[in-house]
Amino acid sequence: MQFMPLCEKMGKPAIHWENACGKPDASAGILFSGSMPSKAIRLFKIMNISCVGLSTFFRHQRKYLEPTIISYWEAEQANLFDVLRFEDEGLVLSGDGRSDSPGHCAKYGSFTVIEQRLNKVLDIQLVQSNEVKSSTWCEFEGLKRTIDHLDSEDLVVSALITDRHRQNGKWIREECPEINHMFDVWHVSKAIGKKLDKIALLKDCEDIALWKPSIINHLYWSAGSTPNGDGALIVAKWESVMFHVQNQHINHPNLVFPECDHGPLNAQARDKEWLTPNTKATVKLEGLLMAKYLLKDIAKLSTEYQTSGLEAFHSLVLMFAPKHTGFSYFGMTCRLYLAGLHYNENSDRLQALCSDGRSQYNIRFPKFKKGGHTVRVVKTKPTYDYTFTLMKRLLESYRESPLALNQSMNILRANAPGPLASAFDQPNKAEAIARHTTRFR
Ligand SMILES: [Zn+2]
Repeated sequence: MQFMPLCEKMGKPAIHWENACGKPDASAGILFSGSMPSKAIRLFKIMNISCVGLSTFFRHQRKYLEPTIISYWEAEQANLFDVLRFEDEGLVLSGDGRSDSPGHCAKYGSFTVIEQRLNKVLDIQLVQSNEVKSSTWCEFEGLKRTIDHLDSEDLVVSALITDRHRQNGKWIREECPEINHMFDVWHVSKAIGKKLDKIALLKDCEDIALWKPSIINHLYWSAGSTPNGDGALIVAKWESVMFHVQNQHINHPNLVFPECDHGPLNAQARDKEWLTPNTKATVKLEGLLMAKYLLKDIAKLSTEYQTSGLEAFHSLVLMFAPKHTGFSYFGMTCRLYLAGLHYNENSDRLQALCSDGRSQYNIRFPKFKKGGHTVRVVKTKPTYDYTFTLMKRLLESYRESPLALNQSMNILRANAPGPLASAFDQPNKAEAIARHTTRFR
């Protein structure tokens, strides 16, 4: 790309992207790459490259880009459904909700499911907060729509792994008893970790902080070492932790799992003291780890699949739809679908290799580890073939009939929820401005 000298800036722009008939190529490039239009257009202006204006971008987005993205997502989804429809054991899904803004006043909530054995995003449901009682109901509504959608496609869900959202759990238990509903270990461990941190702040309970990593590891081990998902055995293994922290490793009064599974312990390598029975720290710890509601949830821990793919997907959504930016209903839908297309194309990336053929890793210092590190596998670079397919589909449909492309969205548009502001009393604009200026005069 050749830049123009500054003195020529007022002359003809260097590159014309939008041709005489107004083809939406430049607008498509901005949206398909997940860029924010105002910033991208400003970038082109600074570089003196001709580009569409903001209002043209949004016109292109509404009339041509949204139908292209939605039809491509639906086609890709149909391919996945065809593969899964004949799966004898039914679908094994992980599902989680996402709010479009921090706090409890989100405009949108979305619910996404990933088929765990394929590691592909299978369904994404966007719910606008005025479609339900309040924004906190969006996740629940999204879950119900996903299950209905899969059901309408003759797909059978055999297992679903989620966080411990009570409303979702109750609904699945009552309405879909055939689904084996399990909890993601990370979500449970996060909740336990937070409560352990609180106990460790109390007087005479400081040692609990040293025990936290072992307790969390034990939770993962209790689930991971029980691949048949036997809830009673997972709970029995978990309960042994209270004996272990008090230096009692055999003869636990638990017939299912009567002794610790570890080998001989190395006293010199110990970095913490055993807890003393009947002290404040031990009583508090037991109250937390052996709480009835927790044991009930631990019996339902997922032993094989977790929701980490969904956490990765939600991080990816942030690249396409940052939380500080507001989007129209279909604008948000399309950005979620773009994230889904990106995830599905790149979900099977292999580990990258160094020049000498060794596997690549890197060291990270995540904030939650408070100075501790984690080792991460470095994957090969992501690919973006879906953007080229989208562009091809867009230009083919546009060449055939821009009108038909625009009208292909008519039914979806008719059924879409109205903007949030449509429920509010609309003030007379002139009167509102007059009141505002009087107040500040
Ligand atoms: Zn032990």
